[in-house]
Amino acid sequence: MRAGGSDPIREAVRLLAERRNAVALTGAGISVESGIPSFRGAQGMWAKYDPMEYATLRAFLQSPRKVWEMLSEMVSVCGGAVPNAAHKWLAALEETGVVRAVITQNVDGLHQAAGSRRVIEYHGNMEELICVFCWKRYPTRERWTPGAVPLCDCGEILKPNVVLFGEPIPWLAQEQAEEEARTCGVLLVIGTSAQVSPACDIPRIAKESGAAVVEINTEPTPLTVSVTDIHLRGSASEVLRRLLEELSMDDETSPSTPSGH
Ligand code: NAD
Ligand code: ZN
Repeated sequence: MRAGGSDPIREAVRLLAERRNAVALTGAGISVESGIPSFRGAQGMWAKYDPMEYATLRAFLQSPRKVWEMLSEMVSVCGGAVPNAAHKWLAALEETGVVRAVITQNVDGLHQAAGSRRVIEYHGNMEELICVFCWKRYPTRERWTPGAVPLCDCGEILKPNVVLFGEPIPWLAQEQAEEEARTCGVLLVIGTSAQVSPACDIPRIAKESGAAVVEINTEPTPLTVSVTDIHLRGSASEVLRRLLEELSMDDETSPSTPSGH
């Protein structure tokens, strides 16, 4: 074990051990290593598609066929993606009782695929399509084929059951996420630029309710200088691997661990 208290990973491990009840808030950054582009940044979707033209409810209602150019890319990229090491380390943290829930802004289903059990999907998911006229829902794989727009039985164009700009957060997900934020001991904020509202309020709610905020991101974000207590800079997979490693070392060296009898 490394000595000294200034290593941010050790500090985060100390917080996780002391406060317990950690909750994770994840964003597009955790799925970048699965080959799903994030939205912001040079490689991001927004470099190719203007969000105001492609990602608002208004744009979908006005020009659904145009918006499906972007949506088709998302459906096929998400459909072909598999969980990366970061999703798996996070599921392992739940398995060992360190993390009790994952609130995700992602719509790719990769936390569940990696084995996370309590996942709150704040922005819905790509696995389902919904008709915004008659509210009928369908599994995406039943209605969507590459190059075509999926249609409802009523004849209208279906929308993925994800939250576009201008749409409300599903009420149950919002309630559950805020409850988790108010009652957690540590909020692990992983791979989000914290610029999408109201998801970006979750860290503040956690902080104001007494939680410590540990941020894992390759870059600083607006949270880093405002609510974050510890910024663990690096890729989600690398930082989570190191956290788990240090946590298991702590377990082995903890005085309460039985030592040979
Ligand atoms: P964002 O694109 O705004 O920001 C991504 C953040 O992840 C950035 O701060 C970046 O520095 C960081 N990052 C990039 N690679 C990383 C890595 N390997 N490890 C750790 N951090 C890394 O994403 P957002 O804040 O989630 O907001 C975008 C919105 O778009 C979300 O609401 C989400 O619903 C949606 N979205 C979802 C997916 C998906 O489901 N995988 C993909 C793109 C966008
Ligand atoms: Zn319909």
